[in-house]
Amino acid sequence: MSKEENELLGISPNGKDLCISCDCETKYSHDTSIEYRTHYVEGAGQLCEKCYDTIMNKLQTVAAQVEKDEKGL
Ligand SMILES: [Zn+2]
Repeated sequence: MSKEENELLGISPNGKDLCISCDCETKYSHDTSIEYRTHYVEGAGQLCEKCYDTIMNKLQTVAAQVEKDEKGL
């Protein structure tokens, strides 16, 4: 595979998956099964630990807000 094709697929020159949010290199090889990954979001892709935490925090804040809205608070 060419370098350009790899970049298109979100793979680093070392064959590692890139974080879908900040494009940093994760520790997972592109062929690592998602069963053996952490910080992987199904349907989205691999995130680094930092982005995963940030995004999960945001989701929790949004979910908490939605819950409040539904209760009319
Ligand atoms: Zn990241």
